[in-house]
Amino acid sequence: MKVWHTSSTDRKPCAMCNRKTGTYKTYEQANMNIKIPLCDTDERDCYRKVDVKKIADQALRSIKKSIQEV
Ligand SMILES: [Zn+2]
Repeated sequence: MKVWHTSSTDRKPCAMCNRKTGTYKTYEQANMNIKIPLCDTDERDCYRKVDVKKIADQALRSIKKSIQEV
């Protein structure tokens, strides 16, 4: 699983604290990219706190579930 960091002007609510952020963690696994918005500032470091693998696993599971339901 590849993990990297991206910034965007497109601001989304953080996966941890729900505040708008323009920094993302991106995972690549099985030809899928999962982009997770997470704060990465001096005051809020959700980026470092979050268990990225857990979030990615949950995201993959819900994606697979919605594929099966179609
Ligand atoms: Zn946050």
